[in-house]
Amino acid sequence: MLKVEGLVCRYGRVEAVRDLSIEVHRGELVTLIGANGAGKTTSLKAISGLLAPAAGRIVFDGEDITRASARQVLERGIAHCPEGRRVFPYMSVRENLEMGCFLRRDAAGVAEDMDRLFARFPILHERRNQAAGTLSGGEQQMLAISRALMSRPKLVLFDEPSLGLAPNLVERTFEIIESIRKDGVTVVMVEQNAFAALELSDRSYVLEQGRVTLTGTGRALLDDPYVRQAYLGA
Ligand code: ATP
Repeated sequence: MLKVEGLVCRYGRVEAVRDLSIEVHRGELVTLIGANGAGKTTSLKAISGLLAPAAGRIVFDGEDITRASARQVLERGIAHCPEGRRVFPYMSVRENLEMGCFLRRDAAGVAEDMDRLFARFPILHERRNQAAGTLSGGEQQMLAISRALMSRPKLVLFDEPSLGLAPNLVERTFEIIESIRKDGVTVVMVEQNAFAALELSDRSYVLEQGRVTLTGTGRALLDDPYVRQAYLGA
């Protein structure tokens, strides 16, 4: 479904991603793990059109999206749930959800999806007219996830969804992401919490200095001596 080949991304002279290649099949939950600065966020930004790659190729559903704009990528079915949630703080919860589907023209479908999300996250319904910036961190994460789902994506990119959340909310966030995958949406997730990421994922890529250094099923990487030592504190 998604194929990234030889991706290179630069910020001026800093080469953040060097020759990264990954593949994601329909219905999979794939994670990218790695230390700070390994190039995980940059890779997601390149896929979603927020950043122009210096080299490489990104193909989604058989279409080359390497040079596509963020809007075009969204139109093709990829939604991005960014690091730090990035809700629009002065807009209401409902308006944030509307921002997630600004490209859709099917008003009835949008209303249906909003009702479904409000039923799934009653707290968002309760706070629907409240400014998103006044929500707690966990509530903002639910909103950011819901906003991404409002575009009815085929693939969602999650960047560090557990960051800054209390342990019980971390668990809840991962449950939500797993349920999204069960609903048939393909998921690519960047996560510092390597243990949780590997437990959840079908397959995972280990990134180091902008390159994939190891790949395998979540289970295999959990048992891998190098991963255990470098990422799982074992
Ligand atoms: P983290 O887990 O800390 O978010 P990451 O694996 O997501 O790390 P990136 O955020 O992709 O890593 O950063 C990769 C490299 O690119 C780092 O060395 C970082 O300092 C650099 N970098 C990221 N954004 C910029 C920017 N806007 N300008 C210059 N350098 C940047």
